[in-house]
Amino acid sequence: MNELARVVSQFGLEALLEYIHAMVMVVESDGRLVLWNSAFNAVKEKHPEAGTLQEFLPPEEKDDLVCRLAAVCQTGQTNRSHFNLLIDPNGGQLCCDCLLIPISGRQVLFVAEKVVSDPVVSRAVEKLSRQVRLFRIESEYAKKLAMNKHAEVEAVVAQAYEVSNMDPLTFLPNRRQILRELQDEVMRAQRYESMLSISIVDIDHFKMVNDTYGHIVGDQVLREIAIKLRDHTRHPDVVARYGGEEFLILLPNTGLESASEQAARLCKQVRESAICVDSHSIQVTLSIGVAQFQNGVDNWQTLLSRADTAMYDAKHNGRDKWMIAR
Ligand code: GH3
Ligand code: MG
Ligand code: MG
Repeated sequence: MNELARVVSQFGLEALLEYIHAMVMVVESDGRLVLWNSAFNAVKEKHPEAGTLQEFLPPEEKDDLVCRLAAVCQTGQTNRSHFNLLIDPNGGQLCCDCLLIPISGRQVLFVAEKVVSDPVVSRAVEKLSRQVRLFRIESEYAKKLAMNKHAEVEAVVAQAYEVSNMDPLTFLPNRRQILRELQDEVMRAQRYESMLSISIVDIDHFKMVNDTYGHIVGDQVLREIAIKLRDHTRHPDVVARYGGEEFLILLPNTGLESASEQAARLCKQVRESAICVDSHSIQVTLSIGVAQFQNGVDNWQTLLSRADTAMYDAKHNGRDKWMIAR
């Protein structure tokens, strides 16, 4: 090979470079183009503004070229690789077998020869590429399906959660939910030494409503009372159906004075507005027991029990009133 180089040089056959099909160029270690033969010139003319070899490569191959050029200059060893040269501005590529030969500490002789592909291999590659594309589309579709299913499951879980915590007659939170919230509020009141009050509300002589008008009308009265309680309970206070004709109201950051005022308002509101169901105008009243959480003394059960006792005190004292727990 060295002998051939010597003969080429000795007989001035460097012009040979202009006749071979391989593209030959001298590039700096950073890829800047210095010299090139006519085979590369045909490509270069289509990118007249390009000054580096990287500009003739697809984006994913640029870094690889820069690394190889640096390695060849550093080690002084020839490197062999494949690159796809962009042969026209419309994206046409030519797969080339490339030789990187160091010619000094900072320049490389870059020889690129088109890889002649076997038509059988080309067809196989084309078929494989089509399969890969198809697989990609299918996996995108499967991903979308899985995401939709996930959203569906989440919606069902959210719905199940709501149903399991909601009273179906009044659409208020049910006993399970309000007890959970009561425990949270008691923990918060203990930790931050904040105020917390609760009210247990019981409809007076409700059995009589059922006995007089029937259970279905009784249900409607319960719904109407639930609406009145909810309409007169402000956020973050919560009202829930605690039992048959009993409701529990949580009043975070509220002392006895405000809780009593609210209880008085509720008694008045229900007393003064009859409930109309079908053609009946039904008058009901409430008995309410109010209790404030005592930090260091109460837990959620004793708080409930004190409010319940106060509610029974209201009953024993004539009903249609509120009493404060001892
Ligand atoms: P008091 O003033 O002492 O509270 O008398 P009361 O009649 O309200 O209390 P009692 O505990 O004797 O009766 C409660 C009634 O509430 C009996 C029960 O049938 C009725 N009740 C409980 N849940 C429902 C319900 O979901 N729908 C209807 N229509 N009635 C209910
Ligand atoms: Mg009751
Ligand atoms: Mg009752």
